[in-house]
Amino acid sequence: MSASILQSAVTVLGLGPMGRALAGAFLDAGLAVTVWNRTRGRDRELVARGASGAPSPEAAVAASPLTVLCVVDYDAAGAIVRGDAVAAALKGRTLVNLTADTPARARDLGAWASAHGIGYLDGAIMTPAPTIGTPDAVFLHSGPEELYREHQGTLAALGGTHTHLGADIGRAAAYDLALLDVFWTAMAGYAHALALAKAEGVTAAELAPFAKGITAILPPLFERGAQQADAGDFPGDINPITSAASSMRHIVQASEERGIDASVMRAAEGLARRVIGLGHGGDDFLRITTLLNPR
Ligand code: NDP
Repeated sequence: MSASILQSAVTVLGLGPMGRALAGAFLDAGLAVTVWNRTRGRDRELVARGASGAPSPEAAVAASPLTVLCVVDYDAAGAIVRGDAVAAALKGRTLVNLTADTPARARDLGAWASAHGIGYLDGAIMTPAPTIGTPDAVFLHSGPEELYREHQGTLAALGGTHTHLGADIGRAAAYDLALLDVFWTAMAGYAHALALAKAEGVTAAELAPFAKGITAILPPLFERGAQQADAGDFPGDINPITSAASSMRHIVQASEERGIDASVMRAAEGLARRVIGLGHGGDDFLRITTLLNPR
């Protein structure tokens, strides 16, 4: 295979909804795509579109200078790549791991890759599978800058925006988890709000436009909160935490009167009350971040 063909070749390991979307975007961009998945048959549609289905992960990685790995977690990622045959085939090539997991596990896999002579970049995908290949996709990357620059052009075929966050392998996973923390606590709040509203005779459709209005309040509060958190100073001039705790108590009371589990809001109120107990009742709600992480 000539050098130019090799540079336009990419392997995708893992063909769940996300792996299939990644491989599909590479195909749409005209790259030579080799795919492999633990369970056979998931490559059928991609092969019909022109991908090569490899019989083993080692054969798959040997086909391209760049391998993109995207499976459920790092146990699965390790089960695929840490074997002797795959490690040997990856030696001197680059592995971009877009699997989601913790920063510590990303650093551990990065150290393993380095010890085996494998170029390693870790990444996170912040948008759903249907966005891949469109301008809406959002990718975060971490690892050696030079290696990232080398493969940036191929990764751009996945569409959207790509941000290199720095050399620390765990940094993309750190952003991923912090952002998913925002997402899942918001979704838990929305699920609870729907249950409470229903108990009071308000349908989800009736509430939804106003719920969207609540989310529109958040971006400027996030900006202001970022400045507060970085400065370590939380002025409560807009809404002191004593007022926030009172509002949370109403939600807990109204929920429990209707027999609705209020444990998520109880946890938030508990943090607010602890901060008030420490003498910060006049501060902003985000003062609780210093309770959660005093360092
Ligand atoms: P899953 O998270 O369900 O992962 C499915 C893939 O993992 C399949 O290829 C599956 O293989 C493989 N797998 C699971 N266990 C093992 C194992 N022990 N050994 C080998 N392979 C294994 O689906 P997605 O494709 O949606 O997600 C992949 C990654 O992308 C995840 O980390 C997810 O968090 C992330 N992501 C997904 C998004 C989405 O919209 N889907 C959005 C953003 C991030 P098999 O078919 O053999 O079971």
